[in-house]
Amino acid sequence: MTVIKNETAVLKNYINGEWVDAQTTETLDVPNPATGKVLAAVPVSSKADVELAVRAAKEAFKTWKNTPVPKRARILYKYHHLLTENHEKLAKLIVKENGKAFKEAHGEVQRGIECVEFAAGAPTLMMGESLSNIAEDIDSEMFRYPLGVVGGITPFNFPMMVPLWMFPLAIACGNTFVLKPSERTPLLANELVELFTEAGAPKGVLNIVHGAHDVVNGLLDHEDVKAISFVGSQPVAKYVYERAAAKGKRVQALSGAKNHHIVMPDADMEKAVSHIISSAYGSAGQRCMACSAVVVVGDGDQFVQSLKQKADELVIGNGLDDEVLLTPVIRESHREKVLGYIEKGVEEGASLLLDGRNALDEFKDGTFLGPTIFDYVKPEMTIAKDEIFAPVLSLLRAEDLDEALEYLRKSRFGNGATIYSKDAKAIRQFREEADAGMLGVNVGVPATMAFFPFSGWKDSFYGDLHVNGKDGVNFFTRKKMITSRFDY
Ligand code: NAD
Repeated sequence: MTVIKNETAVLKNYINGEWVDAQTTETLDVPNPATGKVLAAVPVSSKADVELAVRAAKEAFKTWKNTPVPKRARILYKYHHLLTENHEKLAKLIVKENGKAFKEAHGEVQRGIECVEFAAGAPTLMMGESLSNIAEDIDSEMFRYPLGVVGGITPFNFPMMVPLWMFPLAIACGNTFVLKPSERTPLLANELVELFTEAGAPKGVLNIVHGAHDVVNGLLDHEDVKAISFVGSQPVAKYVYERAAAKGKRVQALSGAKNHHIVMPDADMEKAVSHIISSAYGSAGQRCMACSAVVVVGDGDQFVQSLKQKADELVIGNGLDDEVLLTPVIRESHREKVLGYIEKGVEEGASLLLDGRNALDEFKDGTFLGPTIFDYVKPEMTIAKDEIFAPVLSLLRAEDLDEALEYLRKSRFGNGATIYSKDAKAIRQFREEADAGMLGVNVGVPATMAFFPFSGWKDSFYGDLHVNGKDGVNFFTRKKMITSRFDY
């Protein structure tokens, strides 16, 4: 079923296997960030819509939890096939609603598909453990069971990958799911559920409720929602974690970031520049694993000049054009916030090496911002501390690796960090001492793949079990221990 009947149609919710109108008259426009053209309107659904979705998911859970695990996995195999068949179409839709470059969107679809691949291993992943003879004639066994209804709340920057971090594995483990996609990139979610239904998912197993705060709060407070998987900005992640945990739910809340890349004097400078450029400016810097601060160790003037030159040469434009790397930020309100940060950086005394505001006049239709670089940023400056989530890069200077690592320790965030070096000793020290959960060695975006946990530290994550990998399986299952005596 086609959900958008014309370009500005109001999106529908997907509840109990049917596309239904939200019980609201309030909608938000979804513009293409590169052109400003409105693609659709998203309903700001109410708690009554959440109630319907949770009820459907709770009902579906009664049979889904008892559906044999291999049968559940077969739906995921089919889903994998359908997503692969639609790879290009999905990537184009991401470009339209999020603005990122087609190559990045294509990669995002691939990362999402890998999550389905991982979840299709449910029969192996869900295996329990056993030990005979824990005492005389007594054996112990552990089985895994699903939790019930799980709620997923996702951000705008990965409209495909982040929902696929959540629902395929949750559902493969026997749970049913209610997804609240970002209201700024809601179109892709409808495609995802449509293909999941085509793959054979029974009604009520995956539901979508579009909207904003009311839907989030409805999920956080609902007593039939047993777990919350959240990805978004730091203040909201903390709020979600605290509110849902206070209601006794399991929560994993992935949050903001400030990822430091350390450039050592012995690094291959050409490669380091190239990795940093694509990490900092790809997806307009709107990635939780984007490089947003570079720590230049020693005399790095040549590196800095080369970085500035490459940033200056970046092609800015619509992500559908092949040669474009720097695409728009998501909304005008976000651009305004970023412009405020640029002013703050100047005010606090950082040296503005490249000013992205110069590009504003040239790209009037979309919410573009040119590449920006601040040099001689101090760790206590606002632009060094806050997540700006835009093509704005801060360069900090350090005498040695110890000082560089101290900057990482001072950051409240700990999502990712990278070192560029060929020196084994320095690399090992970085691995042991870097205060972040996902490290890169000569890698620009050290994001983990579906079979490993996405393991941010400090204020980049609230909870204990991360998304993906074995952590994901543990998060979406609970264990039952059976102890049996056989001496009767
Ligand atoms: P956001 O926090 O604005 O929104 C995320 C979700 O929370 C959306 O579905 C939104 O509707 C909801 N929401 C927003 N404000 C709310 C409120 N006050 N009450 C209840 N719900 C609310 O985040 P965003 O701007 O969409 O996404 C970007 C952020 O996500 C960045 O901070 C980025 O670092 C983070 N992110 C983190 C990871 C990670 O793995 N750690 C991955 C992707 C994105």
